[in-house]
Amino acid sequence: MSVAILWLRNDLRLHDHESLHQAVRRAQAIVPVYCFDERLFAETPYGFKRCGDLRLRFLLESVQQLQAAFAEKGVKMHVCVGKPAEQLAKLAQQTGAKWLYYHRESATEEMADEQAVEKALIQLGLECHSSWGSTLFHPDDLPFPISRLPEVFTEFRKKTERESEVRESRAIPHQMKGVTDLPADVWPPMPEQTADERAVYPFKGGEAAGLSRLQAYFWEGDHLKSYKETRNGLLGADYSSKFSPWLALGCLSPRFIYEEVRRYEKQRIANDSTYWLIFELLWRDYFRFVAFKHGKKLFFKGGIRQYTEGHAHKPKALQLWREGETGQPFIDANMLELAATGFMSNRGRQNVASYLVHHLKSDWRAGAAWFEHCLLDYDPCSNYGNWNYLAGVGNDPRENRVFNPQKQAEQYDPSGSYRRFWS
Ligand SMILES: Cc1cc2nc3c(=O)[nH]c(=O)nc-3n(C[C@H](O)[C@H](O)[C@H](O)COP(=O)(O)OP(=O)(O)OC[C@H]3O[C@@H](n4cnc5c(N)ncnc54)[C@H](O)[C@@H]3O)c2cc1C
Repeated sequence: MSVAILWLRNDLRLHDHESLHQAVRRAQAIVPVYCFDERLFAETPYGFKRCGDLRLRFLLESVQQLQAAFAEKGVKMHVCVGKPAEQLAKLAQQTGAKWLYYHRESATEEMADEQAVEKALIQLGLECHSSWGSTLFHPDDLPFPISRLPEVFTEFRKKTERESEVRESRAIPHQMKGVTDLPADVWPPMPEQTADERAVYPFKGGEAAGLSRLQAYFWEGDHLKSYKETRNGLLGADYSSKFSPWLALGCLSPRFIYEEVRRYEKQRIANDSTYWLIFELLWRDYFRFVAFKHGKKLFFKGGIRQYTEGHAHKPKALQLWREGETGQPFIDANMLELAATGFMSNRGRQNVASYLVHHLKSDWRAGAAWFEHCLLDYDPCSNYGNWNYLAGVGNDPRENRVFNPQKQAEQYDPSGSYRRFWS
């Protein structure tokens, strides 16, 4: 029997899955595998782990749910912990697989993993096939090569909107066959911590929960038609879509969301709000392409602009900021929400990032690392891309953008209800 390994990372879904589609077409049987990379459990130089408990919980739930979804289709999915190259090489030998299929990523560590995995599997005689599946626009369809990606988002957006098309999403393959004789799964333990009950949304990992959130936000609640007016909110489930955790792990496909927006526009209403959700998904695309273009510079202090100046890391300031003890109520409320729930609004993220850099005059990379630890929706491109932007070392065409937390609180939390909620 000819076998293909399907290496899963941030594509934890069955719908619109290019690599799954290709693997099923090619092989008689597939072995989907998720490897919890040891890197997740490493310590940062700032004294906390790279992946915090709430984020790990969401990831574990997403993998569990995908394994159950494959099982319903009669396919066994393998789960392991370690270095992907070593684990996949072992699995290739155990299953006698001929092919590897996977989706490419655009951040440096993930790309280094791809090289290591391919090298190990090619040595064992496998053919490796990668495809792209994480953005609205396929990089091959952009009106410029990534090496010439505009440094200003508006230029990227206008040209792309004018000259490129979003490809149609892939249907779930009707029939799949798995391999029954697989090694025993190894899982990291499920963390005990659960999100604070004040969380904006009871986030649960997995494709099914992501799809049901989309159903509720677009169709049942009919919130899409007013998204542009509500998106700067701070309290409650429906001021914004809350799709980001599922998008980050690929439980939701951006192309599927796009098709649902188009369907909503046909069946309900097309207005500035329906456009604006796609506009925000374009920001997400943009940061993926920025990461691809700029490589490891995204993670350096001088950012993609390669500035030579920048603030030193200030451990005490970082600690006060992380714990919501800066004394600035709007900042503290947001930081308390983040630590207790793994989520913070976009308005909050802009303010707390600006505060760490411009008020506390502290190295932005420590703040980005704390976001990486906490955020359910952590994704290297969006996180480090936005931090570069806010720290003035990224794609912001405006020099010295500083958020005044007092003024921002007056504008976005005029009654103080958000600050009281998280005090
Ligand atoms: C400092 C900082 C760090 C951030 N880190 C992350 C991160 O690690 N992961 C992440 O997904 N988003 C990140 N964001 C972007 C943004 O804050 C979140 O995507 C958004 O708040 C998620 O909520 P939502 O799904 O309800 O968004 P909505 O307002 O409903 O937007 C829909 C989708 O568009 C995308 N999107 C919206 N705004 C942005 C943006 N500024 N950049 C990139 N994509 C965007 C997201 O995928 C989001 O789910 C960061 C923003 C800042 C300022």
